[in-house]
Amino acid sequence: MNILMITSEAVPFAKSGGLADMVSALSIALKEEGQDVRILMPLYDTVSRKNLSFIADFQIDMVNRREQAALYRSETENSGIPVYFLESEKYFNRKGIYGPTPASSYPDNAHRYSLLSAAFPVVCKLLDWIPHILHSHDWPTGLVPLYLKKAGRPFDRTATVFTIHNMGYQGTYDKRDLPWTGLSAEETHDFNMMKDGYLNYLKTGIENHTRITTVSPTYSQEIRTLAYGHGLDQSLNHRASSLTGILNGVDYSSWNPETDRYLAPDYYSVFDLDGKKQCKTRLQMKMRLDEKAEVPLFAMITRLVSQKGIEELCRPGYGILEEFCREQNVQVVILGTGEAWVEEELKKLSTRLPNLSVKITYNEQLSHLIEGGADFFIMPSHYEPCGLNQLYSLKYGTIPIVRKTGGLADSVLDPSEPGGWKKGTGFVYEEADPRQLREVLDRAVECWEEQPDKIRLLRHNGMNCDFSWKPSALAYMQVYEEALGDL
Ligand code: ADP
Repeated sequence: MNILMITSEAVPFAKSGGLADMVSALSIALKEEGQDVRILMPLYDTVSRKNLSFIADFQIDMVNRREQAALYRSETENSGIPVYFLESEKYFNRKGIYGPTPASSYPDNAHRYSLLSAAFPVVCKLLDWIPHILHSHDWPTGLVPLYLKKAGRPFDRTATVFTIHNMGYQGTYDKRDLPWTGLSAEETHDFNMMKDGYLNYLKTGIENHTRITTVSPTYSQEIRTLAYGHGLDQSLNHRASSLTGILNGVDYSSWNPETDRYLAPDYYSVFDLDGKKQCKTRLQMKMRLDEKAEVPLFAMITRLVSQKGIEELCRPGYGILEEFCREQNVQVVILGTGEAWVEEELKKLSTRLPNLSVKITYNEQLSHLIEGGADFFIMPSHYEPCGLNQLYSLKYGTIPIVRKTGGLADSVLDPSEPGGWKKGTGFVYEEADPRQLREVLDRAVECWEEQPDKIRLLRHNGMNCDFSWKPSALAYMQVYEEALGDL
C-alpha cells in the first residue's frame, strides 16, 4: 500500500508532543511490514536544512487565491522514510509550530493548516505517486477529506484515516475564516464543519474521514462520553462503527536501557539492574539531591498543563506535592514546561523543599536519565489518550503510578487486579482527586519500605512487557484495509 502521513509534526524534525513520536515510529513499523510510507509536513524555520533536497516550486490553488509553495525532501534517520516538506514563506517560516511559544497559537493557524491539507494533490502529482491511504493526524489535518473530494481523479480510489491524539485541541475558528480554506460554499456544504457557531477542524475530521482511530482502546470508549468528549461525543457516537482504538507502541531503538546512549556507560537490563543504581546516583547528582540509594525517587516528565493532573499535585491550597515531600522520606524530580503559574509554583516549592528538584525546560537527554534513574514515575492525568512515559517507565524498571484513564488504564496493571503481584506492573488509582493521589503515593512508599521483594516483582513484570510497534502497525493495516473496503 502507498500511505501518505499528513502531519503538523514528526520526530526528529518538529515535536510538541507524543504525536510527533507516533507518526515517525508508526511509519517505520509500517515500512518494516513492506508498505510504501511517506510523510508530508510543513517546513518550519526550526527544521534543520541539512540533507534537505529541493524538488520543485509550485502553486496551490485555493480558489480565491493562489499560494506560492515549494517542496523539499529529506529522510528519517536510519529508517529511510521519505519526508516531504512543504515550504511556504508566508505561513510556515516561523520559529514555533502552532505559536511563538508552546502554549500560544498563531492567529492564522486556520489558514496555515488548510494549506498543508490542500497541498497533497499537487505534491503527489509532482512525485508521480498516488496514495491508497491518506493518514491525517489531529485537528491541523481535519480538512484533508474535503480537499480529497475536490481533487477528484486520480484520487478516487484513495481512502482517508484520521488519528485523534488528543480531543482537547480542536482547531476552532471564526466562520469568517471559511473562505481562507480555499473551499467554496458548495464544497463545504454538507460536511458538518461547524460546532457551536465555530468552524471546528477536529469535528470536520471526525465527520468526514473514511475511518477514525485513536491511540488507545480505553480512550476510544471514553471520548464517546460527555465527560471525555470535549463537546464532540455526539459526533463520535455517530461514527462509532468506524472508530478503533490502537495503543501506540514504543520506539525501543531509542527507549531501551540496554542500549540508551544517554545512559552510557550505565546500561542495564532485567537480568542485571546494577546500571540502574548508577543512573539513580547520576540523576541525584545532576538534580542536586542527596545521593541516597535507599530513598525512593519519584519522577515526572510532562507538559505542565491541567490535563496532566498538575492541579492535584501543586495548586496552592489543593495539591499534595508539598505535604508529600515534607511528610515522607522521598525525593521528587520534575522536568517540564507549560502554564506560567505551574512553572512559578514548582520553582517556589523547590526552593522550600530540599527533596524536590525541578527543571523547567525541555531536555531530551535529561528525560532519558530520569527514566533510567527514578524508582517511580507519576502520571496523575485527567485524561491520557495513550501516554508514552508510562510505557518507557515499564521498560526502564521505573514503576508507573497512574490514574486509571485512557492508555494508562490499558498499559499498567495494579497488583490488586486479577493476576495480583504475578502480573502487576504499577500502582493505579481511580479519581482525579488529590487525596486519592496522596493515598497511591503513600502506598508506593510503604511498598518500597516494607516489601522490597514486591518492588522487584513489579519492576521485573514491567521490564518484561512488550509494547513494540509491530502489533500496532498490523492493527493500522487492518484499519487501512477496512477504509479501502468502505470506498
Ligand atoms: P503529550 O503528547 O500529551 O504531551 P505523551 O506522554 O504522549 O504526552 O508524550 C509526551 C512526550 O514528550 C514524551 O516522550 C515525553 O517524555 C516528552 N516530554 C514532555 N515534556 C518533556 C520535557 N520537558 N523534556 C523532555 N521530554 C519531554
